[in-house]
Amino acid sequence: NASLLSDLDRQHVFHPFTALGSHERDGAPIVMTHAEGVMMHDSQGRDYIDAMAGLWCVNVGYGREEIANAMRDQAMELSYCHAFSSMASDKPAILAGRLIEMAPVPMSKVFFGNSGSDANDTQAKLVWYYNNVRGKPAKKKIIARQRGYHGVTVMSAGMTGLPGLHAGFDLPLSFIKHTMAPHRLWEGHGLSDAEFVAKLVDDLEQLIAREGADTIGAMIMEPVMGAGGVIVPPQGYYEAIQSVLDRHDILLIADEVICGFGRLGSMFGCQAMGMKPDLITVAKGLTSAYFPLSACMVSDKVWQVLVAGGDRFGAFGHGYTYSSHPVGAAAALASLDLLEKENLVEQAGRRGEHLHRRLQAAFADHPLVGEIRGFGLIGAIELVADRDAPKAFDPALKVAPRIVSAARDRGIISRALPASDSLAFSPPFVITEAQIDRVVEGVREAVDEVAAELKA
Ligand code: PLP
Repeated sequence: NASLLSDLDRQHVFHPFTALGSHERDGAPIVMTHAEGVMMHDSQGRDYIDAMAGLWCVNVGYGREEIANAMRDQAMELSYCHAFSSMASDKPAILAGRLIEMAPVPMSKVFFGNSGSDANDTQAKLVWYYNNVRGKPAKKKIIARQRGYHGVTVMSAGMTGLPGLHAGFDLPLSFIKHTMAPHRLWEGHGLSDAEFVAKLVDDLEQLIAREGADTIGAMIMEPVMGAGGVIVPPQGYYEAIQSVLDRHDILLIADEVICGFGRLGSMFGCQAMGMKPDLITVAKGLTSAYFPLSACMVSDKVWQVLVAGGDRFGAFGHGYTYSSHPVGAAAALASLDLLEKENLVEQAGRRGEHLHRRLQAAFADHPLVGEIRGFGLIGAIELVADRDAPKAFDPALKVAPRIVSAARDRGIISRALPASDSLAFSPPFVITEAQIDRVVEGVREAVDEVAAELKA
């Protein structure tokens, strides 16, 4: 029953990304029991519109029979098969072929993992291996961006540019360097697109000059930053950054963990943003989160070098028990089928336009909202103490988390992002326009409620 469940959770579950001890002190979290489409239901009988698709991942919506059936059938047919040297199974092979066919730039191989974090770890190892084979062992540093989110393993947490993910862990390791985020409100206020791009490129150039291009192997970027605030770069940004990387023989890793598979209204974020990466990371939307599966896509340029390393290093010494998991691959194939059959990528683009229109209508003149951002079916509003300065709220006021909580009381699940007072929206692609309207209305009421509290 509900209270027993809550007690068990509070007593024994070590919750990720949670103030430790807060559940014991303040009570257990909401226990969710079932979900379908965009709706979630808790153990107290309350209903919620999940305007975050879980953690930006349940793209085709909850309770999809086609995916459940594909996973069940695969579990009965061949529940597990590793992919180390002498073995393979059909679904990962079919999925890899499909990913190569879909890839936004020509790609040649797919390495499967379990999560976005471990996939980005793999990418860093690929970059190191690549430069060792090329006889450039010093080219090891990875550049990432402030506010970027790339995961929580030692390597990917280091690449993540959110200080809250480094605190207490002695991260980032010394060979990870961060450059400025293209966050217009805080870094580009009052600048034209061209001026802002020039400022961002200059910050990167200075970093490369300081460190030495011969010590830098790769730069990792999300096409649109998710957890760092749903940050859409200015026009011309990726083209300018890419030309700097090319000039210095620095590989580009596109972290498509959120953007991949339709979130921006195109199959990959690279297409929407005009990025031409050497390596691509995908996870989340790959299976719509029905199974933990990730993939690193590797270009031919990188692959040819990696292969040549065999003479020196022997068999490639990296892989997970669950790499190429057949049930995960079956889930991914079924999720991709749904995207295609139901035209969900195009639908995400259209629903995104509706979301942005509604966010603009509700918040463009709101005194607490400093910026409304988004692209495709991902959006955010940033709460500020002063729109004109602009000036952020004192973090101790916890403005965004309070709004999220007030919205949840109205049956809307949104998310407060860790880097600043931003509220994110990233619903399943199957959300209707009427449901989007309810989300924006509920959040508007929640913002007004907290605004009144702040005034009082
Ligand atoms: N990269 C991006 C862009 C992400 O948003 C995330 C997770 O939110 C990750 C990587 C890490 O993925 P995971 O949580 O599956 O390890």
